[in-house]
Amino acid sequence: MLSMNNINKVFRTDLVETTALRDFNLTIDEGDFVSVTGPSGSGKTTFLNIAGLLETYTSGQYVLDGTDVSNLSDRQRSQLRNEKIGFIFQSFNLIPDLNLYDNVDVPLRYRGFSKQERHKRITQSLERVGLANRMKHLPAQLSGGQQQRVAIARALAGEPRFLLADEPTGNLDSQMAKSVMALLQEINQQGTTIVMVTHDPELAMQTGKNVFVRDGQISEHETLVPVALASNQ
Ligand code: ATP
Repeated sequence: MLSMNNINKVFRTDLVETTALRDFNLTIDEGDFVSVTGPSGSGKTTFLNIAGLLETYTSGQYVLDGTDVSNLSDRQRSQLRNEKIGFIFQSFNLIPDLNLYDNVDVPLRYRGFSKQERHKRITQSLERVGLANRMKHLPAQLSGGQQQRVAIARALAGEPRFLLADEPTGNLDSQMAKSVMALLQEINQQGTTIVMVTHDPELAMQTGKNVFVRDGQISEHETLVPVALASNQ
């Protein structure tokens, strides 16, 4: 479970102070697929970065899978992130001169797994995203949708409990976006909790739960009722 209680995040520079999240409360249960929508600048990425331990917060409480992260050292935060969190981004963030196999290997090497364990994880995760037959290809030899699949494989190879996705389909045409969304749904059904920031209300409606963020807070009355629930009412 991921639980935020009254989280505030203030960015301070010499001249300006921006409150990105104010008294932000959200609980995400194991197995959920949650979409996060809202206007530009409303705090969606800030929320996701705090959830993924990439960013600290100014006040409040954040509990990730039973661990209150407030008082962790940098090293403990980074260890918890490596163990629990996978990230995917709009821009894929693949390394252009490494083939798919080596791209997926990068975070596994960093975490110090044996060669045998890395090989098992790389082949299994590339199989899960349907690219096991392209291991020796470079990212540029793939379509955008396939590149995002590699990024998903790289995240899955860490065997995360939570997959956090920041506009994962933002750079894709609608056909490729659909197929990446279908893959995320499959991954969720296999047990990974997913939190996805998106500008696309159609995609948001396909997740189990949507939260709408406005001015750094969840706006309950603007939160969409996802398709699966709406059709049962
Ligand atoms: P978008 O949909 O455009 O990506 P968003 O909803 O993800 O926007 P955030 O990126 O979370 O919004 O930004 C929330 C607010 O915090 C904005 O006003 C933004 O300018 C500010 N902000 C974000 N990161 C920083 C930073 N590193 N330093 C200062 N201000 C920041």
